Amino acid sequence: MKTVDIEKLVRPNILALKPYSSARDEFQGSEGIFLDANENPFGTLNRYPDPHQKALKTKLSEVKNVPAKQIFIGNGSDEVIDLIYRIFCEPGKESAIICPPTYGMYEVSANINNIGLQKIPLTTDFQLDIEKILQTAEADTSVKLIFVCSPNNPTGNRLENLEKLLDNFNGIVVADEAYIDFCPEHSLKSKINNYPNLIVMQTFSKAWALAGVRVGMAFADEKIISLLDKTKPPYNVSAINQQAALETLSHPDEFEERRNTILQQKAHLAEELSKMEIVKRIYPSDANFLLVEVSDANRIYNELVQK
Ligand SMILES: *Cc1c(COP(=O)(O)O)cnc(C)c1O
Repeated sequence: MKTVDIEKLVRPNILALKPYSSARDEFQGSEGIFLDANENPFGTLNRYPDPHQKALKTKLSEVKNVPAKQIFIGNGSDEVIDLIYRIFCEPGKESAIICPPTYGMYEVSANINNIGLQKIPLTTDFQLDIEKILQTAEADTSVKLIFVCSPNNPTGNRLENLEKLLDNFNGIVVADEAYIDFCPEHSLKSKINNYPNLIVMQTFSKAWALAGVRVGMAFADEKIISLLDKTKPPYNVSAINQQAALETLSHPDEFEERRNTILQQKAHLAEELSKMEIVKRIYPSDANFLLVEVSDANRIYNELVQK
C-alpha cells in the first residue's frame, strides 16, 4: 500500500473547517414529531432529505462492493469535480493536470474556481503521456491533482498504465469512470485501499439511465470521503433524487438488459458504419459511443442535422 499524507494536500481552510451541523445530526431517531428544523408539517416532501444518504449508500455498497464509509454521493459527478478543486487547490495559486481531448467540465470547473491548469495532451493513440505528466508534476510544485477519464470522453477508449501513474504521482489522482459500467471489469475502485490518493468517480447518468436525476458517486479512502462530506452543502442530494437512485438499484435485471441492448447496438452500428465509403476509421470503444473518422466531417454533420 502506498503512503501519502493527504492532510498535506488539503487547503488549510478546509482542514480547519467545522462542518454545518443539521438538525438531523443533532437529534437522531425516528420517533415523535420533529420540530427542530422549522419544517412544514404538511405535504409529503416537507422534510429535509437525509444529508448522509444512508439508505442509498447501504444499497450502493452491496451493488458496488465498496464499504459505505468509502462512498460519497454528489449532485452529479459535476458536483464532485467542483468539490475536489475546492478541497485540494488554493485559488490563484495551485493547479491541476488535465489530458485533452477529454471531458470539458474539468476545465470549466477549474476556471470557475480560479485553479491553474497544465494541459498534457493524450498521445496519438489517445493514451496518457505518463513520462511528461510525472516530469510536469515534479517540476511544478503548484500541481495538486490530475484528472484522468477512463473510458475517455470523447475518444471512447480506456486509458492504460494507470497504476504506473498511481505509483509515481503523489498528488490526488481522480479517475472519472462515467462509462465504466460498459466495461466493469476495468474499474479502479478495487484499488482505493492500495492508494489513499485515488478518487474514483462514477455516475447514474449513463448506464443507469438517470441523467435527469443528478446522482454521482466517488469511491476513495475514508479520509478523502470525510473531506468531501464536510465540504458539500448539507442537503446536496434531494429526497426525490435519492429515492430515484435507490429505486433503479433495485432493478438490476432491467439495468443489465438495457446495457446489453446498448452494447449490441454499438457493435451493430460499428459494423454497418465500417461498410460505408465515407468512414475512414472506427476507434476502439469501451463506452456507449463511437469515435469515427470520416472523409468530410463538417459536410456530413450538416447533412445529418438537416435530416
Ligand atoms: C457524462 C459524464 C459525466 C457525468 O456527469 P454527471 O454530473 O454525473 O451527469 C462525468 N464525466 C464524464 C467524462 C462524462 O462523460
